Amino acid sequence: MADADSPPRKPVSEPDELTEPFFAAGAEGRLLLAACDSCGELRLPSSPVCPSCLGEGFSWREASGRGTVYTFAVMHQRYHPAWEPDLPYNIAVVELDEGPRMPANVVGVDNGELAVGMAVEVVWQREGDAPVPRFRPAADG
Ligand SMILES: [Zn+2]
Repeated sequence: MADADSPPRKPVSEPDELTEPFFAAGAEGRLLLAACDSCGELRLPSSPVCPSCLGEGFSWREASGRGTVYTFAVMHQRYHPAWEPDLPYNIAVVELDEGPRMPANVVGVDNGELAVGMAVEVVWQREGDAPVPRFRPAADG
C-alpha cells in the first residue's frame, strides 16, 4: 500500500535478466557496455540483439564512464509528480567515449551552464534501492 504521506517515488528501470549485470556493476560505480560477440559493436544493454549485425551473443565490457554532452533539454513542466521538486531539470544524451549514446540527467551543474560538448563522467546515484546512472562535469573537464 502506498503511504499517502510519503513523496511519490520516481519510476526507475528495473533490472531484468538482460540488464542485471549492468545494474550490479552500477551499484559498484562501474559502467558496463554490451559488446557484440559477432562484430564488436558496443551498445547499452537495452537490446538482446546487436542493432548493427543482429547477432545475439554479447560480452560485458567496462566503459570509462566518460563522455560528452551530445544534446540536452531542460524540463520546466511536471510530467510525473516525483520530479516536481527537481524542476527545472535536464535530460541529456551523453555520447560515451566508447561511442554509444546514453540518455541521462546531468547533475552538479546549473542548467544554464550545461552545454553541448561538455565533458562529463558517470556518477551512479540511488533512487530508493535502485542504482541510476547520471553524469556530472568531468573533474578535469
Ligand atoms: Zn554485431
